[in-house]
Amino acid sequence: MKTIGLLGGMSWESSATYYKIINEYTNELLGAQNNAKSVLLTVNFEEIERLQHQNRWDEATDILIEASKSLQNAGADFIVICTNTMHKLLPKISLHVEIPFLHIAEATAKEINKDGVKKVLLLGTKFTMQESFYKDKLIENGIDVVVPNEQDMQIVHKVIYDELCLGKTLKKSREDFVQIINKSKEIEGVILGCTEIGMLISQDDIDFKVYDTTLIHAKEAVRMAI
Ligand code: GLU
Repeated sequence: MKTIGLLGGMSWESSATYYKIINEYTNELLGAQNNAKSVLLTVNFEEIERLQHQNRWDEATDILIEASKSLQNAGADFIVICTNTMHKLLPKISLHVEIPFLHIAEATAKEINKDGVKKVLLLGTKFTMQESFYKDKLIENGIDVVVPNEQDMQIVHKVIYDELCLGKTLKKSREDFVQIINKSKEIEGVILGCTEIGMLISQDDIDFKVYDTTLIHAKEAVRMAI
């Protein structure tokens, strides 16, 4: 079994979910006393979040390069960055690390293609929804992507940082998310493209097929490890 390197803390709430899923899913597949072999490195999200919102991405990249090297030195065979947003920096980070990364959007695209779903709504931070680094991975894999309008993007972004990353799940925000999803036209699925959104909404709340990137990424990591 390979050792999974979890680059966590963005936020720690979702890292805890990753940790739980990789162990539960390994046991589901292998039984007995099996759990995942893993190393978890947690950065301080206060520093990361500040750098993101001050547009100081190079400094954030340096932090994640150091963290990735530490995971490599600690025996990780490959790295799972436990956030969608910070995959923006992966092209630069990967130049400094020898072990591979399991890309969250590629793992998600694979799941979507398995279902034959062609058009999805992407929810995430405004970085993930507005910029091309994430959407391009889906488009390259033959998937059409739509994002919410400007006002709805602000709502989603604010709920992620002000509530979900702090472990708060509010009924009003759940209703807002469901409304934003339900008003999207001609989609067949919705990507929960932020690793905390699964704390707020699940397949039970939505008629479209839901792709929870935390669940997909963590399970793909287990399959890669065993
Ligand atoms: N965990 C979130 C994501 O998947 C947001 C936190 C971050 O900015 O890294 O994008």
